[in-house]
Amino acid sequence: MIIRRKTRQIKLGRILIGGDADISVQSMCNTRTENLEETLRQIKELVSAGCDIVRVAANNNDAAKAVGDIKKELPDVPLVADIHFDYRLALSSIKRGADGIRINPGNIGPKERVKEVIRAARDHNTVIRIGVNSGSLPHDSANVSSTTDAILLAAGRYIDLFSSLGYENIKVSLKSSNVLETIEVYQRFSEIYDFPLHLGITEAGTLLSGTVKSVLGIGILLFGGIGDTLRVSLSADPVYEVDVALKMLKALGLRRGGVDIISCPTCGRTNGDIIGISGELEKRVRNIGKDIKVAVMGCEVNGPGEAKMADIGIAFGKYDALLFKKGRILRKVLKEEVIDVLLKEIENF
Ligand code: SF4
Repeated sequence: MIIRRKTRQIKLGRILIGGDADISVQSMCNTRTENLEETLRQIKELVSAGCDIVRVAANNNDAAKAVGDIKKELPDVPLVADIHFDYRLALSSIKRGADGIRINPGNIGPKERVKEVIRAARDHNTVIRIGVNSGSLPHDSANVSSTTDAILLAAGRYIDLFSSLGYENIKVSLKSSNVLETIEVYQRFSEIYDFPLHLGITEAGTLLSGTVKSVLGIGILLFGGIGDTLRVSLSADPVYEVDVALKMLKALGLRRGGVDIISCPTCGRTNGDIIGISGELEKRVRNIGKDIKVAVMGCEVNGPGEAKMADIGIAFGKYDALLFKKGRILRKVLKEEVIDVLLKEIENF
């Protein structure tokens, strides 16, 4: 059983982060934020996939203005504006109703600018994520012996600055594209501070390699009780980021609900299109909240037996397929009707 480390609790829009709150899942739109139609469409897609908090780039005046338009259209969606370099975009996003902003204080400019952002956030009760990345550390950290030391040094300085202004409505991320560095830096930070932590592996890569790196890095931290909110970063449709994050949380017992598709790896005995059917089924059950295990197995010999832990399952035979529940065979179904039959069974479960 995972025992989560105690962190302070903050509230971003309607979502609690830290303390005993569920670990929330975040993703980021890859649309031009100012293209309101596309951005709203993608936000709705992400939310319907199970995303708790959506981030958008506020990289110019039009994008920062769109933050306000998005909040008007979707007031219940917790929205974070992502800011780099220009503190005025942070001020504008805060004033327009962003529930949170993400800044790297190291690239916002002189301290006075960071202070101005903090003051605006305090006036609007806006959560600030202090995002420290190994790729954008302060210049004087070149003398520090390791990257993790440099990230911790930078994070400590930023936290001191925020604390000196009495603003602790913050969460912290300490990202590296190196999995081992990321694990070490979050572990070391957690020994010192109790601010809520946003987990992620930055620039993790493509759907496959990014998933592997994220599940390892974030998963090991979660298993150690570290992490209050997370984003799986992938060079792919952001809906996959949400899918991977939710599956990881469910696999670790940190989330419940949703249809879990179990499928066999296929072999020389396989009698059906397991890869195609399980993939298609997974897409079609994405928005179903029922806590059910569904098995898709390639043969009758091992199928029902290997998947007897499943609530519902199908095992392909030479000419048709067997439908089973908890390992008990119910009836034969036509191969071409397998997806429809399983969807119906899930609906009735
Ligand atoms: S369930 Fe059957 S087809 Fe699938 S891997 Fe096992 S033996 Fe092979």
